[in-house]
Amino acid sequence: MRNLIIDLDAIAFNLGVMRNRAGGAKVCGVVKADAYGHGMVEVARKLEQAGVDYLGVADINEALTLRRAGIDAPILAWLHDAEEMFIEALNEGIELGLANVDHLNRVAAAAEITGRLARVHLKIDTGLGRNGASEAEWPQLLKLARGLVAEGFIQVVAIFSHLSSTGEAEDLAQIARFEAAVDVARQAGISFELRHLTASDGSLNYPQAHYEMVRIGLALYGLSPFSDNKAADYGLRPAMTATANVTQVKRVPAGEGVSYGYQHRTAAETTLALVPVGYAEGLPRQASGKAEVAINGKKYRILSRIAMDQFVLDAGDDNIEAGDLVTIFGDPAALVPSADDLADAADTINYEIVTRMGGRFVRSYLGRVDQE
Ligand SMILES: *Cc1c(COP(=O)(O)O)cnc(C)c1O
Repeated sequence: MRNLIIDLDAIAFNLGVMRNRAGGAKVCGVVKADAYGHGMVEVARKLEQAGVDYLGVADINEALTLRRAGIDAPILAWLHDAEEMFIEALNEGIELGLANVDHLNRVAAAAEITGRLARVHLKIDTGLGRNGASEAEWPQLLKLARGLVAEGFIQVVAIFSHLSSTGEAEDLAQIARFEAAVDVARQAGISFELRHLTASDGSLNYPQAHYEMVRIGLALYGLSPFSDNKAADYGLRPAMTATANVTQVKRVPAGEGVSYGYQHRTAAETTLALVPVGYAEGLPRQASGKAEVAINGKKYRILSRIAMDQFVLDAGDDNIEAGDLVTIFGDPAALVPSADDLADAADTINYEIVTRMGGRFVRSYLGRVDQE
């Protein structure tokens, strides 16, 4: 009755699109947050089969879930708390993004305990103001890293950072600060294989900043990180389609209030169609009155309040029946609303729309990789 259809072939296709864009750089496919709502293990299996170079996640927990599912590709995890499971991470061959002396020391201790070389990516904050060593801390972090390399506890695989996506001037300033931080690392006697800075947006905008690897999340899911350029402009194919079936239709007279708060009242005798998707599924309540959905090739605005489990469409005299397929969003090439349309209606971004889709939706996959 509620379906999230995930087109894994589209994700593999989008990997190819972004690989071409990235020139010769490696691609780290970002599958954090359950692959932005698309299903982390299924997406990772598909990306691994399609030859992705790295998989990127935020937490070690996510990385461990991938390993337990049999994923062998290199995995990078970059967001850690003070009590992190560095020992498990090293035992599972997970590479770690590190940004402070305390974490680096604890990873070295874990390397000593496990007897495994820790492969680390050192993160410099070039102006996002999130994790990443400050420029003031950077020399100290490098000095420690150099000592730990000499002791045989760590290997520095990469230097990396992340853009703020504020605007071109700010991004270019961050690129310059990144290159300066890389120079400082080289002067400190640190050798590394990779530099990586850009996510989807920076990878599309700044070919000069692809370096040896790009980290791609949103674009793999067939969505654009920009409001003015759509995914189709880059040849990307949306991977997620959310549908439901009408559960009930009824004729009502003019002047009937519909759903909580009577945000909508019928203007004339009309057909109301009930759709069993609500904010529990991730359909934002604040999109009430603005979002559109498609039935039989026609778009209908959700005029009344979206509830926890359901919303109601005012279908006028259209012939809609119980069981009819409602597309909440999908590929706009199929003349249905896009995730961007729903994001606009909810005053948010497409990232948030797809990542929060869940609740009682049942996911199904196209192009699934069979597990050995
Ligand atoms: C989420 C994330 C990415 C991927 O960003 P997209 O905009 O989805 O491509 C890359 N790098 C870091 C550090 C991230 O947190």
